[in-house]
Amino acid sequence: IYVLGIETSCDETAAAVVKNGTEILSNIVASQMESHKRFGGVVPEIASRHHVEQITLVIEEAMRKADVSFQQLSAIAVTQGPGLVGALLIGVNAAKALAFAHGLPLVGVHHIAGHIYANRLVTEMKFPLLSLVVSGGHTELVYMEGHGKFQVIGETRDDAAGEAYDKVARALNLPYPGGPHIDRLAQEGKVTIDLPRAWLEEGSYDFSFSGLKSAVLNTLHNANQRGEIIDPKDMAASFQASVIDVLVTKTVNAAKEYNVRQVLLAGGVAANRGLRAELERKMAELDHIELVIPPLSLCTDNAAMIAAAGTVLFTQGKLADMALNADPSLELD
Ligand code: ATP
Ligand code: MG
Ligand code: FE
Repeated sequence: IYVLGIETSCDETAAAVVKNGTEILSNIVASQMESHKRFGGVVPEIASRHHVEQITLVIEEAMRKADVSFQQLSAIAVTQGPGLVGALLIGVNAAKALAFAHGLPLVGVHHIAGHIYANRLVTEMKFPLLSLVVSGGHTELVYMEGHGKFQVIGETRDDAAGEAYDKVARALNLPYPGGPHIDRLAQEGKVTIDLPRAWLEEGSYDFSFSGLKSAVLNTLHNANQRGEIIDPKDMAASFQASVIDVLVTKTVNAAKEYNVRQVLLAGGVAANRGLRAELERKMAELDHIELVIPPLSLCTDNAAMIAAAGTVLFTQGKLADMALNADPSLELD
């Protein structure tokens, strides 16, 4: 089974060909980061325009690198949502046009299902499993009993983890996106500033990061007023320690309670070195549960993960038709 995946939900124009849902034949990503950097965030109108310019080239490149013809494809999978509606529409319309022109089945994929299925490009998924999804727009614990069965057992009530990273980075005058910069500074700094951890109600697997973000901003502001200087490295280390403490503790508790066989890390923040190390350390104590962490290139937005998730939907007969539409607030479960 060869599936072409297409992803345009945010600021990456991506296309990939995946064999049997597990083997990457090509994985092309055109990032627009440089165009959005000076605005300190993704500008939807600019994103749409870049997608229009790039989409045909990126798909052609993915097909050429994979050395696969449209006749050999089994289906075309595309991110249907969530994301920026104008950006999503470019991918959805490209997928529909190609599916129609080549008489191929069309599959609509949830972007977060894609992030989770990036793990299937690394190793076999063993159910039941738990996935910690940490990205620019999402922070969720997802329980899966089988392929395509998603149950969100906890999610953020305000900011996503990546959003908190980007906002704190901005307060520290670091370039956008700030996650990788905080990660780097945190490695060099010390945890010297006492910051809150939002545990929420006993037994809750929900998250909250806006209080932490505000605490960082207030601490920086107050120090500034007093003419004191806080070392950005120490602030980065302290902020990162607070985020990781909550993410890892809740993930480990849920993995135990739900008695899972695997824990999968997913989403752009999964690239965080501190998070990866701490999750590895804590999960090592639970030696009956396997921890899977994808390589960095599969953690951030790409289309191989969309093709991988799309292959499962295709084999389950969950096909879309020409009425497929972009859905900016599509639900996972
Ligand atoms: P979503 O997947 O929720 O729709 P998105 O696609 O924009 O959102 P991703 O591309 O998956 O999000 O991830 C981007 C986020 O990951 C950004 O917030 C970025 O700062 C963060 N990020 C990337 N690398 C790191 C890192 N090393 N440490 C912390 N955060 C990181
Ligand atoms: Mg992105
Ligand atoms: Fe994403």
